[in-house]
Amino acid sequence: MPLGDEFEIIKVIKKTLGKPSKNVLLGIGDDAAVLAPARGKMVVTVDSMVEGVHFDLHYTTAAELGHKALAVSLSDCAAMGARPMYALVSLGLKQELGQHFITSLYEGMKRLAKQHKVDIVGGNIVQSPTALIVDVTVIGETKKKALTRGGARPGDIIAVTGDLGGSAAGLNCLRRLGRDKLGTRPEIVARHLRPTPRIKEADALVGLGAATSAIDISDGLSSDIHHLAEQSRVGMGVEQAQLPISKTTIAAAELIQSSANVWALYGGEDYELLLTITPKKFKAAQAALRRLKTPLTAIGEVLPAEEGVKLKTLNGEWADLQPRGWNHFVRRRQGP
Ligand SMILES: [Mg+2]
Repeated sequence: MPLGDEFEIIKVIKKTLGKPSKNVLLGIGDDAAVLAPARGKMVVTVDSMVEGVHFDLHYTTAAELGHKALAVSLSDCAAMGARPMYALVSLGLKQELGQHFITSLYEGMKRLAKQHKVDIVGGNIVQSPTALIVDVTVIGETKKKALTRGGARPGDIIAVTGDLGGSAAGLNCLRRLGRDKLGTRPEIVARHLRPTPRIKEADALVGLGAATSAIDISDGLSSDIHHLAEQSRVGMGVEQAQLPISKTTIAAAELIQSSANVWALYGGEDYELLLTITPKKFKAAQAALRRLKTPLTAIGEVLPAEEGVKLKTLNGEWADLQPRGWNHFVRRRQGP
């Protein structure tokens, strides 16, 4: 079915999403949504995905795009230690997309939204001549003090959730081999196409008061750790040998003769949390995440500011860790 006009598209979206929770006093279909307020402080974030910059429809399905567009904004919410409540979705649609595409896009979003009890409460639709744009705003709440990039102190443990380089593994394999050839290895592309926002993990860590600062890894560890260092006015010492890398990522690197270590440092879009944690609470933090089946790995230590951001390489030498990875204003991947 062709796309139809804006009102028809909204009908399709409303039908796909179904009934919202009782927090939504007035949902999709009016000039604005009416929502029950947050019980703590409100945390608001927005992120855009642009075709040709952030995704490629040659190897991304509509449902995967829906999942990922919501996941990246939920991930920012997690990085603030907030629980997401509502999402608004703004679309720039190309005329050639059909109604089936819209249904699948919202089904992908809805599945993830349900997992985290998030209501999709509205948005906007415009026509975009060449590139599809999906822009998601998330509103969350936190009853405690929000986690920021600014609280790390020398002596804190630097830690990451999950593992690193998995998204770059998927992206590089998709670009090199195409999706058809990877049909028997869905685990290689899963992390890139359907990232997991670490909402529950952030919630558990906030509950313990364990984290002193946090950021989600979107540009790559080497870049994002500089944001923590700058905002906290500290140095960082990371040990390459400690970086958690999955067997799948290592297998993907072997498949296309690439380097999992490089992906772990410089590959973006892992959407893991990079945190600094008070040493005396680290064991409790690890145990709390183990209950969620998510590893929490110590990868280094916060240093005084004058030490800068450093990496202990695999041969045991310390070197400056350069921020390389995705930079939107250069619009290309820098470095390896
Ligand atoms: Mg972020």
